[in-house]
Amino acid sequence: MFALRNASRRLYTSRRSRLLSTLAVLEHRGGQVSASSLPAVTAASKLGGPVTAFIAGGDSASVAAQAAKLVGVSKVLHVPNGAYDKGLPENFAPLLAENIKAGGFTHVVCAHSAFGKNIMPRVAALLDIQPISDVTEIKDATTFVRPIYAGNAIATVKTGQPTNIITVRGTAFPASATEGGNAEVAEAPVDPKAPALVEWVEENLAKSERPDLATASKVVSGGRGLKNKVKFDEFMPPLADALGAAIGASRAAVDAGFADNSLQVGQTGKVVAPQLYMAVGISGAIQHLAGMKDSKVIAAINKDADAPIFQVADVGLVADLFQAVPELTEKLKNE
Ligand code: FAD
Repeated sequence: MFALRNASRRLYTSRRSRLLSTLAVLEHRGGQVSASSLPAVTAASKLGGPVTAFIAGGDSASVAAQAAKLVGVSKVLHVPNGAYDKGLPENFAPLLAENIKAGGFTHVVCAHSAFGKNIMPRVAALLDIQPISDVTEIKDATTFVRPIYAGNAIATVKTGQPTNIITVRGTAFPASATEGGNAEVAEAPVDPKAPALVEWVEENLAKSERPDLATASKVVSGGRGLKNKVKFDEFMPPLADALGAAIGASRAAVDAGFADNSLQVGQTGKVVAPQLYMAVGISGAIQHLAGMKDSKVIAAINKDADAPIFQVADVGLVADLFQAVPELTEKLKNE
């Protein structure tokens, strides 16, 4: 009898341990779930198990109510504590690690954004888990595709870990619908209220009337070919405005002070995949391509017909940008 009972308990335990359950960590700003978190919810749904959304901050209850409507989310856990408002990794990571342990999740998914890149490696370290970052495809619950060497190679990785800490590339998954879900909302079981190791002082956000670079459907980016900041400011904003596009820049342009750091596209900048990406005076170095090569249509203006950008461009114009850009801007304005 004893042996039988033990055997059935073992069976139950092993079945339970195979059950998938995913925690999707959501970012929020100004009381709204961030657009960058919506593809993460889609990715979490693809894993196959139920998806629990996780939110922390002073206004977590109202953000949780929004998250409950996300399609694919079956439960929302929130932590109503202003200590987590700014997503400081030193505070957020222990909170998340404790809730992952309490919930026994098999997968934890977050956007591969500044927030996710800050927090998830720390969570993985606290749980002694190898994180899987910048995932672009989910083959199944244990097999993930991710770019390596600045996108020069694509690795398919297999995991046997009981818990998997994953960040996903936002441009690789569609955004989940924000209406239609009806998830249960509850407070998270654990708030360790760890002593704050760091203090939030201030933030200086770049303000712009133009679309946000990370989510814009059209992007025009300028490179070193623009020669200096005065010319960048003279030629790029009118082109962007005529197209209704966000402005981006190559690292060379950013390093030379033509454009703000927040506008850098590429391996060490933002990864974008708009409907239209126009590269102006950009050579097309591999580190730049890593941030834009998944764009639907790539257009390039460069005076060098052999510039590598033309190898990925759908539409190319070999011309002096100082002549071509004003002509193009005028034509677009008159359309
Ligand atoms: P250039 O390579 O100097 O190209 C300028 C182009 O403008 C040329 O093709 C030229 O023909 C054209 N041009 C010049 N004058 C005109 C004109 N009048 N009309 C038309 N065309 C003209 N780069 C990034 O962009 N993003 C990154 O995130 C990034 N990360 C990096 C990370 C690492 C670890 C390293 C090592 C490098 C990284 N880089 C990154 C830098 C990258 O290698 C290139 O140096 C950079 O992308 C070059 O920028 P560019 O194309 O503007 O400049």
